[in-house]
Amino acid sequence: MTHARSTKQASDVLVIGGGLAGLSAAAHAARAGASVTLLEKAKDLGGRASTQDRDGFLLNQGAHALYKGGVGRTILSALGVDTPGGIPSTAGGFALAGGTKHTFPGGFLSLLSTGLLSWSGKIDLAKVLATLPRMDTTPYDRLSVTEAAARLSRNSEVQQLLRALVRLSTYGNDPDRQSAGDALAQLKLALDQNVIYIDGGWQTLVTQLREAAVAAGATVVSGCRVERVDVNDVGIEAHAGADVFHARSVILATGPREAADATTGVLNETLRAWADDAVPSLAACLDIGLESVPEPRSNFALGIDQPIYLSVHSAVAQLAREGHGLIQCMKYLGPTESADPTKDEQEMEAALDLVQPGWRGQEIQRRFLPKMVVVHGLPMADRGGVAGRPGPAVPGTEGVFVAGDWVGSEGMLADTSLASGRRAGELAASRRARVAAAA
Ligand SMILES: Cc1cc2nc3c(=O)[nH]c(=O)nc-3n(C[C@H](O)[C@H](O)[C@H](O)COP(=O)(O)OP(=O)(O)OC[C@H]3O[C@@H](n4cnc5c(N)ncnc54)[C@H](O)[C@@H]3O)c2cc1C
Repeated sequence: MTHARSTKQASDVLVIGGGLAGLSAAAHAARAGASVTLLEKAKDLGGRASTQDRDGFLLNQGAHALYKGGVGRTILSALGVDTPGGIPSTAGGFALAGGTKHTFPGGFLSLLSTGLLSWSGKIDLAKVLATLPRMDTTPYDRLSVTEAAARLSRNSEVQQLLRALVRLSTYGNDPDRQSAGDALAQLKLALDQNVIYIDGGWQTLVTQLREAAVAAGATVVSGCRVERVDVNDVGIEAHAGADVFHARSVILATGPREAADATTGVLNETLRAWADDAVPSLAACLDIGLESVPEPRSNFALGIDQPIYLSVHSAVAQLAREGHGLIQCMKYLGPTESADPTKDEQEMEAALDLVQPGWRGQEIQRRFLPKMVVVHGLPMADRGGVAGRPGPAVPGTEGVFVAGDWVGSEGMLADTSLASGRRAGELAASRRARVAAAA
């Protein structure tokens, strides 16, 4: 059966996917003078950076923190995107180990007083933390987190704590394979400048990024799922239902598997290989909205002998109505764990019982996301860390680029999406200039 096709206008650059990577790509390509069309399959933009309003509780897709000194914030700022919010503190926070809570060793005094570490562990940790700010992390790129922790300290308590801090700063729970160089660099970034919890949730960033892209001339279409991308001698054709979008370049700003699924031929082979190679980091997320927070001074806890995190995000940023509280809990899922959502949820509830006793009587909102992809491509030691990630240009296929948190050699987490989006947008726009000059 043949479908009647309504051909939409042609663009220089077609961006598929309206998360942070796609919006960054669209804004940068449009700013560089290209005509840009962005297609997003969902009704709303933002992907994993979107925020859901549930009775005044503003729920990100799991706990989200923007790295204050990261490349993502630099990119946002250059696009005129504000990052309003608050900076969390580990003061008054807890380290959870052996089924009890200990003072979190986030500073000199708390390190002295915590019952988490033995005296020799405290001395060792103080030494590691003192060397970290000046440390060149590149020699650790091809070492795993487990190997690096053993090099940095012979004390097993300190090694365990370092692995927990890496989970906290990278969301990676694959210590035997994850690149230590990038993990330590990210930990340095966290210790040096901390993070921002964004007022209104990350939708605040998404809304402004869209505005930046549109102000630069990009057309943004949501509710438009691209089923197939064809590359031929004339250019690119993207098929979405009855519509065909033509362009000189395409930026696939989706997950690696979605990008592969939408393509055929040699392009499909390359993208399929990249998708098979990418190791995701996964998390179970539990968000609890409270009538009021039982222990207002206990805002943070990190599991040391279990991969658990919890933080009262509403204590730092505007994410709930006055007086209400929003706690975001997470379990960093490891590569070998078999999925057991009920157990994961119960472990997070048990952590809440320790840190916020009485929370159960205050609960008025709950959302459980059993298996979220935090990033599609965790930097791996055997590939040399971020330097081993693919793209943005797809070799052997003119005019095709990828962007996302699995692409390119800059940054971690959302910073990678924004940075690869910038690079892909600039490359696609410069190709348009070259094609135009040759014509
Ligand atoms: C639980 C959790 C916690 C996180 N915490 C942090 C944090 O603290 N700090 C941090 O920096 N990062 C964090 N992240 C990571 C961050 O959210 C992501 O890296 C970032 O949002 C990914 O953006 P993206 O554009 O690359 O991908 P996505 O947001 O996945 O966007 C891809 C878009 O493509 C669309 N799409 C897919 N296929 C098609 C198609 N065929 N046609 C049209 N559209 C399509 C999708 O609908 C989606 O909107 C966290 C992520 C999670 C899940």
